[in-house]
Amino acid sequence: MGAGYASFLLAGPTAVYGESPDENRRGGTASAETFGKIATSVFGYNAAFLVTPTGELALRADPETARRFKWVRPLLQPLLRDLEAGQPNAAQRVTSDAEPNRVELMRLEGRPSVAGVVSVSGSSIAHTRAEDHHARFYLVVFRFLDGATLDTISREQGLAGARYARTADQEPDEVAFQIEATATAEPIGFIIWKPDLPGSRVIGRLVPVLSGAGLVIAGLFFALMGRLRRSLKELGASEYHARHLSVHDVLTGLPNRALFAARLEECLSTLVPQGRRAATALIDLDRFKEVNDNYGHAAGDELLCAVADRMSILIGPGATLARVGGDEFALLLPDLDSSDDSYIAICNDIIDELDKPFDLHTGGAAVRIGCSIGLAVFDGAVHATSEILRRADVALYEAKTNGRGRATVYDPSLDRRVEARENLKNDLRLVLEGHAEGLDVGGSLQPAEAGRLEVFYQGVYRGDGQGELAGAEALVRWHHPTLGLLTPDKFIPIAEETGMIFRLGDWVLLEAAQAATRWPDHLSLAVNVSPSQIRHRGFGVRVLSILSQTGLAGSRLELELTEAALFNIDEQGQTTLGRLRSHGIKIALDDFGTGFSSLSHLIQFNIDRIKIDRSFVRLLGTKAEGAAIVSAILGLSGTLGKATTAEGVETDGQRDFLVANGCTDLQGYLFSRPVPLTDFVKNFTPVAANTRIAER
Ligand code: C2E
Ligand code: MG
Ligand code: MG
Repeated sequence: MGAGYASFLLAGPTAVYGESPDENRRGGTASAETFGKIATSVFGYNAAFLVTPTGELALRADPETARRFKWVRPLLQPLLRDLEAGQPNAAQRVTSDAEPNRVELMRLEGRPSVAGVVSVSGSSIAHTRAEDHHARFYLVVFRFLDGATLDTISREQGLAGARYARTADQEPDEVAFQIEATATAEPIGFIIWKPDLPGSRVIGRLVPVLSGAGLVIAGLFFALMGRLRRSLKELGASEYHARHLSVHDVLTGLPNRALFAARLEECLSTLVPQGRRAATALIDLDRFKEVNDNYGHAAGDELLCAVADRMSILIGPGATLARVGGDEFALLLPDLDSSDDSYIAICNDIIDELDKPFDLHTGGAAVRIGCSIGLAVFDGAVHATSEILRRADVALYEAKTNGRGRATVYDPSLDRRVEARENLKNDLRLVLEGHAEGLDVGGSLQPAEAGRLEVFYQGVYRGDGQGELAGAEALVRWHHPTLGLLTPDKFIPIAEETGMIFRLGDWVLLEAAQAATRWPDHLSLAVNVSPSQIRHRGFGVRVLSILSQTGLAGSRLELELTEAALFNIDEQGQTTLGRLRSHGIKIALDDFGTGFSSLSHLIQFNIDRIKIDRSFVRLLGTKAEGAAIVSAILGLSGTLGKATTAEGVETDGQRDFLVANGCTDLQGYLFSRPVPLTDFVKNFTPVAANTRIAER
């Protein structure tokens, strides 16, 4: 029984994809087979059929079952008619549990049999469609009274060698008992056995058994049928559940990736080429991970459900909204005419709606996330769903790299950007491989075809009026053979995505640490660290080994982490940071104010320095609230006893305001742009700098 159920449940997705209209009407063959299997092997019936009130098979049957049914149908028809005549009205049927039934002795397939018919409602049957749920069916089962059944009766009743015979052809020492058809009282055969007790006593004991055979067996039969009916009901429920589960997301209840793919396939195959179109959108939540990491998975789950609810309200009845990944949703708008661009309005509504705050009960927080959307509009000329999804994905990538919170519609020019990106990825790999193969020449990597990487340095100056050089931030550059000098925003995201960031970051740190050992001792070195670097198990050990390898004092090194990197850190990452701090290394919070700032985090991580993002510094002198925001950040960091660097200082006015408000350090084009090492060391006294560089 277990195996039967298991294989049935495993057949769930097959049943879904086999949902051709025809299979739907009659139920899948797999379901019909399973029904038959349960009825025969589990409940011991010799045959079982599910039939309509008019006496037709309700499930598509294999040829053998269909053939058998054809023979028994005329015999069962009167029973069905009787039951039909006595049917209560529809309302009673739905609520009534005691379904009408009949059990009779009859000759079926030439053998004495007991047949049972019971009414079952459509909702208790696994394979019926929703519209059939109030329909009525009949479960017809029968069991032969000879063979195994007779063996059982004879064993239980002490009928030695009982056999079945069409006629009363018993030997002189045998006795015969006639079985009559319930409805017609026609003899349908004889049970013959050799009595070991004086005849009258045996007959006396057996007559009630055998003359009441209909009753005895019917009782047994009835119980079995009840069980079969209950099993069908459970099976129906579990099949529905399994089917539903296999194509729906458990958390949000939305269709899942498999169902979405099936609907997209169906949409594509039915799309009329003349003028009809459809649109597919991939929707990616922008800051979901931050919420999940900061407030826990329960809050993340609540947020996903709320997101699904908000989007569901916005889409029409024919559309499919599915959850296709952790924080990824997909939308199919299956039928648009050539002038219909409602898909843009729907996507913009989704963006607006998801941009509004979500009040989470879990964690008691109001969070804002937003989303990016990639759209592919297609007609019958597109042949593969994979191509549609690829286009939507390309558009989504574009939307995300262009600043998120937007919808981008695919067009072929985006493919060229993807190609360019692929090329850049390969080139970056080549550059890093060059490093691994020892092609590191003079402080830069230079395998000819991929160009070379170089670390630039931007001075950081004291905010005390004197404005002395306090240190430098290491900023990586890539001299690309065809694209020229590339800034990190062009390749750091690729390095992060492809997992190359660890090697790249490692190279920058080693390179910069080596350089800094040749600077005056009071100058510090700041190096940027990506979120994935911190999460890398070997990160802490590697930083310390670079320090010992280069001889740079830990107290001169500052690691710059963005808010996202710091606040998404796991326990192991926190331990690593603690260990690095115990070696005197400082931790700076980069781009402060642009991410997921939280005062409690600032205190928890014991940050040494806050770097005010240049987007705030830029407001100084241009917008009234600029001064208010920046002085508030400076006040906060002063209260917490943190050092503060203002990034992107470009004007005297900005510098004066920052100095007046207690900003400890300043960085920006006003003082120096990021420059190659050779230019940076010109900041030092010429003699000292030259001596140190010559030592190298
Ligand atoms: P960041 O750490 O915030 O670095 C400061 C960025 O601001 C630098 O851009 C710098 O050139 C720019 N900048 C400095 N002063 C001014 C100014 O006055 N005006 C303007 N408009 N910009 C200014 P860059 O070098 O393009 O670096 C961009 C980002 O790339 C960095 O932002 C940092 O997050 C990342 N990055 C740079 N090097 C590395 C690295 O080696 N590893 C990692 N993981 N990230 C790096
Ligand atoms: Mg930085
Ligand atoms: Mg920054």
